[in-house]
Amino acid sequence: MKNVCIIGGGFSGIMTAIQLIRKSPEVYVTLINTKYPLSQGIAYNTKSTEHLLNVPAGKMSPFADQPGLFTAWLQSDPAFKKYLSESLDDSFVPRCLYGEFIKEFTLPYLDNKNLKVINEKVVSVKSKNEKFFIEMADQSGLESDALVLAMGNFLPAAPKIHDTSALKKENYFGNPWNPAFLNNLKTNEDVLLIGSGLTMIDCMLSLIAIGHEGKIYSVSPRGYLPKPHVKKPVNYPDFYSELKGKDLAEILSVVRKHLKTAEKDGIPWQSVIDRLRPHVKDLWLNFSKKDKQRFISHVRHIWGVARHRLPVDVHYKTIELIEKDQLRVIGGRVEAINFTDQFDVSIKLRKKHYSELIRVSRIVNCTGPQGNYNEINDPLVQSLINNGLISPDELKMGIKAMPEGNVLDSSGKPVKNLYAVGSILRGVLWETTSVPDLKVNAENVAIQIINSIE
Ligand SMILES: Cc1cc2nc3c(=O)[nH]c(=O)nc-3n(C[C@H](O)[C@H](O)[C@H](O)COP(=O)(O)OP(=O)(O)OC[C@H]3O[C@@H](n4cnc5c(N)ncnc54)[C@H](O)[C@@H]3O)c2cc1C
Repeated sequence: MKNVCIIGGGFSGIMTAIQLIRKSPEVYVTLINTKYPLSQGIAYNTKSTEHLLNVPAGKMSPFADQPGLFTAWLQSDPAFKKYLSESLDDSFVPRCLYGEFIKEFTLPYLDNKNLKVINEKVVSVKSKNEKFFIEMADQSGLESDALVLAMGNFLPAAPKIHDTSALKKENYFGNPWNPAFLNNLKTNEDVLLIGSGLTMIDCMLSLIAIGHEGKIYSVSPRGYLPKPHVKKPVNYPDFYSELKGKDLAEILSVVRKHLKTAEKDGIPWQSVIDRLRPHVKDLWLNFSKKDKQRFISHVRHIWGVARHRLPVDVHYKTIELIEKDQLRVIGGRVEAINFTDQFDVSIKLRKKHYSELIRVSRIVNCTGPQGNYNEINDPLVQSLINNGLISPDELKMGIKAMPEGNVLDSSGKPVKNLYAVGSILRGVLWETTSVPDLKVNAENVAIQIINSIE
């Protein structure tokens, strides 16, 4: 019997645990989780029915080889009738339903005698003689033969401003996933949401759901909003064979050609992007470091809005708010925040030589999870770096690792029996944040662990 410890019990951690106990009676798994509910993590812990899945229901099954598990669950309960549609596989249902589903789905596995769950925060990990020594916040500890890092998403980086004193005020909210920013908000107060991606949209929807009537500002470097999905997706032929082995410039030119063809044939551009999506990981793995950097500097923003899309109804809601001037999306950078009785925020406008000053009573940081592990203020992350077990990747998006999840140390050598699953692998895999990718990564890591300890 070998001991495997998993740190983090969100979707990535619990699915790695389930795959381990499903595939081998020879492993004993200890899953350590804190802060967010087991299996639900940040994403599926929301209580708001306004917050929708950004992946169609048909792709949210936790097992790659059993695709219909989530949709079958939805169909099994009459209470969910109103969410069912003819095209359930393509629909975007509330994330809290997925939260209920995944909790129910994991429940039977929690009775397995080879799985133990500990509710604690891991604060440090040391390694000696091919064993890991895990220390928790309550000063208890345990030893394991293999370790999986599945800590999920960390809070967004604070805005890069000279005087940060305003960020300590109670109405600055560094955690956009905590609904506390809605508490005691007066209906007519103005709010700044820094960022203009899906997290900003969630916060905007939460504000509207409580009847907020004040102005909502959203600011991001380019001021792009996520693009909408299409109501009825159309199949576009696979063109991966034209992309294989090509560099970024060649790939962009092929994609542009297909976007034009689709337009000519009356096929929505979304179908071309969706056809590309399952191959992005392989294309990314094949890019040179220079191409990865070019992609991040020049393509990431446009790819982000085309790939992380909005359900059609949410798109229309957003347009409606812009048209009635309640939502204003600004392209620019927050350059200073001062607090008197409210926040005065100076925004250096994109492609302009001047700045704009806005006054708001609350600020929520919706800029997306911090990926620069050197800057993550977390004792476990610092301990892993200081003990030479993990090393931030060159792109500052996660840690160095093999595509299959084996963690590499700072010299690029695999750390024996240390694995990672989830957004921590963003620099290596690019697409490693949503359920369709995570379920595969979790299963692959489980298989590797079983193979290495047998
Ligand atoms: C708001 C939001 C919405 C999303 N919506 C979708 C969607 O609709 N569809 C989709 O496919 N994907 C979505 N995603 C992507 C999402 O990240 C994944 O689907 C998935 O839930 C991530 O799970 P995870 O386990 O990797 O991370 P998390 O859910 O972040 O879970 C990590 C867990 O590890 C714990 N942890 C961290 N450090 C420690 C420590 N030191 N000790 C103990 N425990 C620790 C955390 O507290 C947390 O409970 C969304 C993400 C977010 C943030």
